[in-house]
Amino acid sequence: MYEICTIPDTPPDFSGVHPDGVTQCILLPGMKEIILSQSGFPNPVAHPLAPAHRIASMPGAGLGMFATRQIKSHELIHSERPLLVSPAKYTPQDRDRAQEEWDKMTARAVMHMTQADQEDFSALNGGPSLRGIAENNGFDAQGILALLSRPEFFLRYTPEQCSLLATGKLISRANHSCQPNAAVYVDASTFALQLIATRDIAADEQITVPYCDLMPLHAERKKKLEPYGFTCTCPSCTDPALSDERRRVIGSYEYLLADDIFKKWVKDPALPDDHLEVPLLVVLALMREESLQDTLNYMRFVEKLVDVYAALGNQKKFKECVGWNIAVRMSKVGIMHTEAQQTLVNRDANPAQIAYMQTRPKLPTCNIGTNNPSHAGNWGSRA
Ligand SMILES: [Zn+2]
Repeated sequence: MYEICTIPDTPPDFSGVHPDGVTQCILLPGMKEIILSQSGFPNPVAHPLAPAHRIASMPGAGLGMFATRQIKSHELIHSERPLLVSPAKYTPQDRDRAQEEWDKMTARAVMHMTQADQEDFSALNGGPSLRGIAENNGFDAQGILALLSRPEFFLRYTPEQCSLLATGKLISRANHSCQPNAAVYVDASTFALQLIATRDIAADEQITVPYCDLMPLHAERKKKLEPYGFTCTCPSCTDPALSDERRRVIGSYEYLLADDIFKKWVKDPALPDDHLEVPLLVVLALMREESLQDTLNYMRFVEKLVDVYAALGNQKKFKECVGWNIAVRMSKVGIMHTEAQQTLVNRDANPAQIAYMQTRPKLPTCNIGTNNPSHAGNWGSRA
């Protein structure tokens, strides 16, 4: 049912090798063609302006990733092409398939890796089972899943069957925290993992990412983390009573996301102008206290605040909030190509690469107020 292939499979560009290596993939039929059909694929992998991390051992806790300098919120910390992309879940018709068969298939993919990549893969946690390593170190490849979200594909397979895990060499060394300071995004256009800061990180601070959904309460998160074989000792898990209470309070603000609440406020002059702004700012501050900036709800609250400032016709706050929204979305949609352009221009890239990057689309500029198509109808509707 699956095919084992190498991506990118196209002849190497410019210098004779793929500068960021290639990925061994275990894919459903048709997936590879969709990935390769992206315009300009593969786009050059974006890299941070200056090295920002190191891998080091921690007493009694294996390896971890640490910041070697101050890292700003939303900065790209590290990017790499994964060693392996493989199915996230046992598909229904494969449920009876023994673990050994998954191991065998993973072994076939690993065999195609370079010697160095094979050694790096085998050294990751979760062995000796190769499938165990892929599961234990794989990041949910949402960026690739989004690319596959087309009717002809989903008529054949369920989204669950299409879910993929991307296992990296260095990014998979980042440990979990329920109060993480970074997020991992799998970018389909570069076919690379991107590690992005979700808040400011101090030099020497450990860089952590979420291995599970962060919104559930402590007991549920603990259960989700069991397969990884460690007990989380982050501040939220050390004091679950406080963090669970905060999560319950955050949940009680979800009513703000409902469309009818927003429409009612826009139409009702008896409601104060800051009727939605105040609670939105409160819940966002509370989420930051729990380091929940990478959650979907944080992004949705920020987007709602953008709508509120548009309805108020408040150019200044709208502009600030749109900038904030773009930054927050980076961990969900990847670092924009302007970052990649800037990075390559600043690196020791060859002229052909720079010329190529300069043809890439630029970050869309932010139109303010009535010029912004998505807010044209709503602009100043409260004003
Ligand atoms: Zn925790």
